[in-house]
Amino acid sequence: MISTHGMTRPADLSDVRTTNLAVVLRFVRTHAPCSRADIAASTGLNKATVSSLVTDLLERRLLRETGLTENRIGRPASMLTLQSRPYAAIGIEVAADHLVAIAVDLTGERLLTWRRTYPGLDGTPGRAEAAVAALAGRVVAKMAAAERRVLGLTVGAPGLVGPGGGVRFAPHLGRPALDLGTALERGLCHPRYEVVIDSAANLAALAEHRGGAEADTPNLLAVIGDVEIGAGIVADGRPLRGSRGFAGQAGHLQVDCGGPRCRCGRQGCLEAVAGLPALVRRALPDTEQDGPITDYAPELDRITALAANGDAHVTAALAETGRLLGRGVSMLAELLDPQVVVLGGSFATLAPWVLPAVEAELADRAVAAGDGGCRVTASTLHPDAAALGGAMLALDRLETGKLPAPTA
Ligand SMILES: [Zn+2]
Repeated sequence: MISTHGMTRPADLSDVRTTNLAVVLRFVRTHAPCSRADIAASTGLNKATVSSLVTDLLERRLLRETGLTENRIGRPASMLTLQSRPYAAIGIEVAADHLVAIAVDLTGERLLTWRRTYPGLDGTPGRAEAAVAALAGRVVAKMAAAERRVLGLTVGAPGLVGPGGGVRFAPHLGRPALDLGTALERGLCHPRYEVVIDSAANLAALAEHRGGAEADTPNLLAVIGDVEIGAGIVADGRPLRGSRGFAGQAGHLQVDCGGPRCRCGRQGCLEAVAGLPALVRRALPDTEQDGPITDYAPELDRITALAANGDAHVTAALAETGRLLGRGVSMLAELLDPQVVVLGGSFATLAPWVLPAVEAELADRAVAAGDGGCRVTASTLHPDAAALGGAMLALDRLETGKLPAPTA
């Protein structure tokens, strides 16, 4: 079944047992190793109910007994933790010039991280769709060979992810729409696990909220910057997606009305002045004489190396990028009032040189100056946060009651 995250529905939580299974699973994830008595004491469920729920989760191979015991008054208590086998959750990020695939087990431990260049989003849509579906198929096959059952596969894409997994872009970008839903349905041979297509920035925000350095911060903004710039929003502990799931299109906020022309046809968009191509033009002005850049990773490495050596021109270019990025971040911060803004993608790699200028711009533009305001940090999950968030989405859904059937 292919769906977009905004359209998926959790299991029927009016089913008390399903709700309680999810409660126990979440408790063990956050408190493992723990005993049945710990679960009962903290969740308010009675001991007999907890015992029955734990048996169910053991049969579904979601929990395991560690073999360790905790000495208490009375019988020693057997300790529980999440089962690392036999499941896998998969996330794939579709970026402008590369694909990233990550698979994790139930505990969030990485099983696989692959990065692949591909024909890109500006080429023939069929080739991009086929590349995404082929990569997804290879990861699923790898998991099957390792005798792992796939719980779910999530693809994070830039642009506007519509119903059915179609991805479209702003009208003037000149970029063809992608039908990822159909490509994945065919490429994965009508999968029995759930396949979700969501915006890459939403998934990055989920990864930060679930497992980043700022995990569980209720109001968090993830600003992801590579060739494109997008934002994922967590408000009051929940993803904020808007009425159609299109919230967070930060790349085309106009931050410099006299700035360079953006791919969308307008001038001075955040992406046009602070995206990776703009930085490369600013820091390495000779690079594009060799022809158009299709993979920015070597340029990013060169900029990082020159900045680390104190190259004055490159560090000035990075500070200018940070100042312009700070304008966009301050607009978002004024609108959404987050506790923290996490910079991801290339911005995380470049944080030592970019972040001070972002902070200065934010402080300068804050309406409620001196009132604490929001912090800005670099992602510790980069550069894979969107793919990681994709994998975590399937784990997250277990805790909404979507559990796999018991296995023999
Ligand atoms: Zn634009």
